[in-house]
Amino acid sequence: MTPTDVNSLAAGTVAEAEVVAILDAAADAMFRLDAAGRVTRCNRSARRILGHGTQELLGQPFRALLLPAGRPAFDALIAQAGHAGRVDDYSRISLRRSDGQVVPVALTVTPAGGAGWWAVARDLTEQADAQRTLAESEQRVRRGEVLAATGSFVVDGAAGVVQWSTGMYLIFDVVPGASQLSVPAHLDLVHPDDRAEVRSAVQDALAGVRAAELDHRIVRPDGEIGWVFLAVEPAHDAAGAVLGARGVCQDVTARKQADIAVRAALERERSASHELRRLDRAKEEFLATVSHELRTPLTAILGFASLLRGTAAEHDQLLEPIERNASDMAQMVERLLDYSRLEAGGVTIEPRSIDLGELIAGSVRQLSASLGGRPVDVVIPAGQQVWADPEALERILVNLVGNAAKYSERPAAITVAAQPGGQGIIISVADEGPGIDEEHQMRIFERFFRIPGATRAKRGTGVGLAIVRQYVELHGGMVWVDSEPGKGSTFRFDLAIGGGQ
Ligand code: ADP
Repeated sequence: MTPTDVNSLAAGTVAEAEVVAILDAAADAMFRLDAAGRVTRCNRSARRILGHGTQELLGQPFRALLLPAGRPAFDALIAQAGHAGRVDDYSRISLRRSDGQVVPVALTVTPAGGAGWWAVARDLTEQADAQRTLAESEQRVRRGEVLAATGSFVVDGAAGVVQWSTGMYLIFDVVPGASQLSVPAHLDLVHPDDRAEVRSAVQDALAGVRAAELDHRIVRPDGEIGWVFLAVEPAHDAAGAVLGARGVCQDVTARKQADIAVRAALERERSASHELRRLDRAKEEFLATVSHELRTPLTAILGFASLLRGTAAEHDQLLEPIERNASDMAQMVERLLDYSRLEAGGVTIEPRSIDLGELIAGSVRQLSASLGGRPVDVVIPAGQQVWADPEALERILVNLVGNAAKYSERPAAITVAAQPGGQGIIISVADEGPGIDEEHQMRIFERFFRIPGATRAKRGTGVGLAIVRQYVELHGGMVWVDSEPGKGSTFRFDLAIGGGQ
């Protein structure tokens, strides 16, 4: 028979023409092969799929149209067809198009009447694309599960069959297929202490009773404990009947461990701060006791020193440093006592109308040994009354005048003045000492703060101005400082005017 194209058979018999039309209408590519395996006929789909014209195909060994890897399978098909007469199995094989592209096909080979075969190839390109897309999306889901450390599972209620996604195996650190999946096998991986809770959540979902969410521990094959968030719910069919359960798991070990670490750190901090408070209280008590105990012998020293005064001229000279130092020390002890009383929070004031001039004179007298005869100028209206607690106001003035004397060199003047201002009266204590730079003007009222540098050489504990501020604030007033380095400082505070109230 002369090789010919099915389309060129117009001149053939009617029956032949019908066969040609039927062949051309088929979606599959059809090739008539002679006994040597060469193409003697092909239909329209064959030309479309391969992108060849008829003339190029006719006479070609069909084997040559296949990718080399598929040729042994084709040979096997031919052999099988020769032997069994018909091959029902579709073999997946790839053809090469005229433009070099590869076309996946399912190929069947059937012996033809006379000699030769019919080879029918079904184009699988679309199916292969769909399979690739499906595989890609499965891959994406798997990657997403790994990234989110999540997995999902389905339990078929009737068959008891359990299906796990890849993420589940990763979370539980189990090799896929290593053991038969079942609800009991799943529960075996749950920490024994949490198992009952997980079991009832799954059983309730399987029975269609409720959905549940819970955190539970798991024990991985290497004994490591992990934390898993589980959400499980009943699965229904379209008619609403319960088919089983489905759920998701998320590995929350890192979050749980962080939670546990934070809680432990908080607990440590709480007990450390408790201990600090206890130590602080012990320190305050110690300070109060020591200051109190120092007061008595100091009073005795100052008392006996004053008795000695005037007994002999040479004694007076020696008495001056004894009295000055003992007085400085007494002032410091008073400050510490004030400080511990104020810190303990038990100080209340009893304001009344008092004569400011008298109070200033008393405070200066108290400081006389520290002042060493230096005059303090008092500029206040005669008989000025203020509304204050006398003891507290004395502590304020002793601290401010004491600082003025301590931080400025003799014979520079110290001035205590009062003038109306604010809601009442503003009292000021001015010196011509070293002054205080701006950056330290607020901080000097903090407890224990002492300005670094020259003034540190003077004895002090850094609590005097903190005490002043607390006493002033107990009166509802404010204290502040105006100062310029090198030109002295003026401390001011305000009080209510006394007399009328
Ligand atoms: P202390 O005098 O015991 O150090 P204070 O609380 O009374 O504590 O004062 C805090 C700091 O403020 C002092 O250490 C000093 O540096 C500064 N200061 C206080 N009064 C004066 C002043 N009149 N002149 C200059 N500096 C002062």
